[in-house]
Amino acid sequence: MKRIGFIGLGLMGTGMSKNLVKAGYQVTVWNRTEAKVKPVVEAGATAAKTPKEVAENADVVITIVTDSPDVEQVLLGPDGAIHGAKKDDVFIDMSTISPIATMKIAEKLSEKGIEMLDAPVSGGVIGANNGTLSIMVGGKKKVFEENLPILEAMGKTIIYIGGNGDGQVCKAVNQILVGTAMLGVAEALVFAAKAGVDVAKVHQAVSGGAAGGWQLTNNGGRLLKGDMNPGFKIKDYLKDLGIIMETAAANKMPLPATSLVLQMYRHCQAENMLDNGTQAVSKAVEKLAGKTILG
Ligand code: NAP
Repeated sequence: MKRIGFIGLGLMGTGMSKNLVKAGYQVTVWNRTEAKVKPVVEAGATAAKTPKEVAENADVVITIVTDSPDVEQVLLGPDGAIHGAKKDDVFIDMSTISPIATMKIAEKLSEKGIEMLDAPVSGGVIGANNGTLSIMVGGKKKVFEENLPILEAMGKTIIYIGGNGDGQVCKAVNQILVGTAMLGVAEALVFAAKAGVDVAKVHQAVSGGAAGGWQLTNNGGRLLKGDMNPGFKIKDYLKDLGIIMETAAANKMPLPATSLVLQMYRHCQAENMLDNGTQAVSKAVEKLAGKTILG
């Protein structure tokens, strides 16, 4: 069985690393803030002092940190995993980062004979804890196939997309769909309120038809209760919008709908709503309409 290194024990990484331990892997972990290491060590992992030390004790190093510079830091920085890795080791980055940065990191790693997969995830903390994540993978197909059992310990729907960076492009697609759907849900529910009809009944009626979907059911349902708590935080979604816009610019692709979504979330940023859930984009819509969903 391959030895696993795991870097980044945040909301997502904690459950994912525990699932690897549960699947019988020998797992060595590192996290910048030491306090988060303890629960994973108690579950059966071993703690390392640096990302370099993680790689020295692993054949496959998994990262799930925040953004592109953070992945660069833990993989390529002064104490980075690259300095502890040997030829033919595999690095799997499961963070949501830029496809362009991913390709550059993969190139740097290949100079040392290290293979990289980008394998961002969807499914949130619940999916991370339950091992039911959707995982979209970029990199060499052979490397993907050889490491599929490791991904299967963390996810349920695991799709090989294409070369390095293609997994991250797929995740950006996911985030375009999520954001445009969420803004549509918010606009539709404020529209119902402004027209003076019963918003809860409208929500119930349209959820079962052609307009039904995850955002309407879950985040729309939260809006009916005035619940702005995060499943997914606005600050994390703004990071992803930055990745989407960078990728679109590189491909000379206009994104009219997503650009509007970005401006609405900028309003949320200006109103200090970064720690609210993405459903709180409804506040921006309500302001424009001069009407709130809850009356
Ligand atoms: P989180 O709870 O904020 O955890 C972030 C992790 O990254 C922490 O372990 C943090 O260390 C580490 N980190 C950040 N910058 C670092 C740096 N420069 N050097 C070393 N470590 C660093 O975030 P999360 O929710 O687990 O998300 C992680 C990734 O998964 C993100 O790319 C996010 O977009 C993606 N994702 C999240 C969700 C979700 O629902 N939460 C869903 C799908 C994908 P510290 O503990 O020291 O801060």
